[in-house]
Amino acid sequence: MAILKAEAIVLKTYDFRETSLIAHLFTREYGRLDGILKGIRSDSRKFASNLEPFSLNDIIFYQARNSGLHLISQCDLKDDFSVIRNNLKSIAHASYIMDLIGRLMQPDDKNIDGYELTLSALKQMSSGYDAQKVLYIFLIKFLKSIGFRPRLDGCIACDRDISAAAFFNVRRGGLVCARCGAGDSYSTDVLGGTIASILHIEEGNWEDALRLGLSAKVRDELKNILHNFMEFHLQLRPKSGELLEVLQ
Ligand SMILES: [Zn+2]
Repeated sequence: MAILKAEAIVLKTYDFRETSLIAHLFTREYGRLDGILKGIRSDSRKFASNLEPFSLNDIIFYQARNSGLHLISQCDLKDDFSVIRNNLKSIAHASYIMDLIGRLMQPDDKNIDGYELTLSALKQMSSGYDAQKVLYIFLIKFLKSIGFRPRLDGCIACDRDISAAAFFNVRRGGLVCARCGAGDSYSTDVLGGTIASILHIEEGNWEDALRLGLSAKVRDELKNILHNFMEFHLQLRPKSGELLEVLQ
């Protein structure tokens, strides 16, 4: 068995038998990875980290050939993002991201862009930026990085340029003009400011995106577009999304 090192974000953990823990991780080097920590619950000093959800750790593990469950022999905490843990709203938003990564990323499928985006989102939340804004920026950039960006540069049905009034059509996965959008139950009104915000966030870096002012109406539209788009095209409705709705 090869012994490997990785930097890992903890997506989720659960108890296994009397003394062990199974951890779902997202690693920089190997993508999503599942591991078992034997004896962690019977001897709290055996490992240097408790692998709390959304903490950042360095791990050493024995690569499993067949089972897909790697044996983690060491883990060292690099950052527990304690600022996120002090606030229920940021816990809910960070949990939403962990849930999403767990569902979308396939085991042992390396994705450095996705990893960097996830780590950036945790760092920005931990620096005190508005967790909701960080989540929207993460989702817009992440959907683009996995090739699931909505089409926003013209009417998806007739190709006409879109100037003012437009609709977002979740079934078609992009904007439709007033003529094509009328009467389609999958179309909802969308502000020019919402479209401009998505394009700005897709193109710019995190600093530019975080400086962007988002009105309550734009936030509301972003939330609906992103949630509906992910649900329709990726069959995703993360469980923690329900908690998110409550907190907004
Ligand atoms: Zn059209």
